[in-house]
Amino acid sequence: YYKWTQWIFEILYRRGLAYRKLAHVNWCPKDKTALANEEVVGGLCERCGTPVEKRAIEQWFFKITDYAQRLLDNLDWIDWSEVIKVAQREWIGRSEGLEFRMPVAGHEGVEFAVFTTRPDTVFGVTYAVLAPEHHLVPIITTPDRRAEVDAYVARTRTLSEQERKIGERGKTGVFTGAYAVNPANGERVPIWIADYVLATYGTGAIMAVPAHDQRDFEFATEFGLEIREVIVPPAEATGYDPATRPPLQAAYVDAGVMVNSGRFTGTESVAGKTAVSEWFEERGVGKRTVIYKLRDWLISRQRYWGPPIPIIYCDDCGTLPVPEKDLPVLLPDVDEYVPTTTGSSPLGRVPSFVNTTCPECGKPARRETDVSDTFLDSAWYFIRYPSADRDDVPWDADLTRKWLPVTSYIGGPEHARLHLLYSRFICLALNDLGLIEFSEPYKRFRAHGLITKDGRKMSKTWGNVVNPDEYIDKYGADVMRMYAVFIGPYDQGGDFSDRDLGGMVRFIHRIWTLITTNQISGHAAPLSARQMLHRTIKRVTEDLEALKFNTAIAALMEYLNFIQKQPALHAEEARSLLLMLAPLAPFVSEELWERIGGKYSIHQQRWPEYDPALVALDEIEVPVQVNGRVREVLKVPADSTEEQV
Ligand SMILES: [Zn+2]
Ligand SMILES: [Zn+2]
Repeated sequence: YYKWTQWIFEILYRRGLAYRKLAHVNWCPKDKTALANEEVVGGLCERCGTPVEKRAIEQWFFKITDYAQRLLDNLDWIDWSEVIKVAQREWIGRSEGLEFRMPVAGHEGVEFAVFTTRPDTVFGVTYAVLAPEHHLVPIITTPDRRAEVDAYVARTRTLSEQERKIGERGKTGVFTGAYAVNPANGERVPIWIADYVLATYGTGAIMAVPAHDQRDFEFATEFGLEIREVIVPPAEATGYDPATRPPLQAAYVDAGVMVNSGRFTGTESVAGKTAVSEWFEERGVGKRTVIYKLRDWLISRQRYWGPPIPIIYCDDCGTLPVPEKDLPVLLPDVDEYVPTTTGSSPLGRVPSFVNTTCPECGKPARRETDVSDTFLDSAWYFIRYPSADRDDVPWDADLTRKWLPVTSYIGGPEHARLHLLYSRFICLALNDLGLIEFSEPYKRFRAHGLITKDGRKMSKTWGNVVNPDEYIDKYGADVMRMYAVFIGPYDQGGDFSDRDLGGMVRFIHRIWTLITTNQISGHAAPLSARQMLHRTIKRVTEDLEALKFNTAIAALMEYLNFIQKQPALHAEEARSLLLMLAPLAPFVSEELWERIGGKYSIHQQRWPEYDPALVALDEIEVPVQVNGRVREVLKVPADSTEEQV
């Protein structure tokens, strides 16, 4: 498998989708490895919770950013849980806006680009901010400001990107002594540096409009910078007089009417975005553009375990992929697996691994010593599954066509920005290369909920971990399984309770008693009983297909209540009940199936089908459920609307 994972790395490399660069990466000092942005949660290592640091290391990346727009667009048509789509849209972070250049006053030809999603506020710019790492900072800083600026830049280097984003330390920043020109009105505004502006996002510089951006408002308030209103609520636009306006208490971020905005004064601000952008474009000082928050996928890991990145460095020939015939590049046997403290890979300590010959010129050369992120392995496993016994190809075309893409995929919402995004990217790239025929890996994805205990996430800390084995030993796997899906809606989960589990034990016992103690009648059931049966089949069928296991079980419970009150148990009823129970309670249903003379195995029988004529009724019963449990059953005319019910 890891031979083919290395092969995928190489085809992406040849396609220009894998590259190496010196980068400030997230570094976990405890795990002693680099982390992808997706693996850093609130400034902490996702694996061990240690605060993440920044280190400059040569790293391999995949150009997932080339696919940002398509990863976004396809979310519109794939059938996925909304919670995952929302998380991916947020992570990809598309912004449409205006990019324009601000010349630096007194420096001929020196200018910097800024990006804004609010061109309608451009007349309200009262200062500009550069990221401390911005290349212009040393050039434009005035001599009297230099010491303070240098100290601030040095301090910023010790902070991780996450610490800078979180910004709990309050607003900090330093004036460079230089001024920029606002191309909207020709005004000079002071240029500051501040660590909340990141060199890696957008252009690494911002125009600041404190009246209409809360972060800028706080910064301007802290440092006594001008706050100039250029958008007001529509009701306040008529007779607007800056002299009589009370000072703003917070940024006004809503839409409104433009004021103090030259030729655009009086324009509605939403229309103003387009109008100002067009005006900048006409004058050749700006252009409309799109930016994304998504960064390239860092795949280098300085660990032992993982597929070695299949690259050879030759002094004469440069960077070369290992020839396909030499794959896989195997991990060497080593005594010491532990990562080093210096940031270099443990493989770097193994000369027999590092030293090799150049596949081009045959001279001595060195191997890459990083391994790839294990998320690369998991990004394509489903493509390998149908062809797992093929050694000669990564996947067989016919088998792949037969089995893929994945019809239905269930997983935890915590995978939204990691596995579920990475596997979509790999799929799109392989599709572009003509290697697979689908562009999205999973037709349907559903995020499952979480089962809690006493209202809390189960953890050793709280001592509330439920061990299913104990319950399986006591009640059997069927009861445990059915209770686990009955506990609440599948996408939400619920709270585990021994008392409620007891209810499931009794339900299974009642079915057992019904089937084993009744003589089964070979006659047809009366019409009313057949109607109830076919309505139940319809409900259970539809609920199971929609992963509504809890309401499917509730329907079976109602049905059991119904047939227990009937004078006789008929063959069609017993058979259908067990067939519907089979996917939920496979062991008990198999046993009971045998007892009513059913052919082995119940799991190889046809699913019962309902007769639409029996489902349509003069009067129907509407079960009222709360948290998946039936509280009441209403009888209403079959053609009732939802409101009438
Ligand atoms: Zn860690
Ligand atoms: Zn060479």
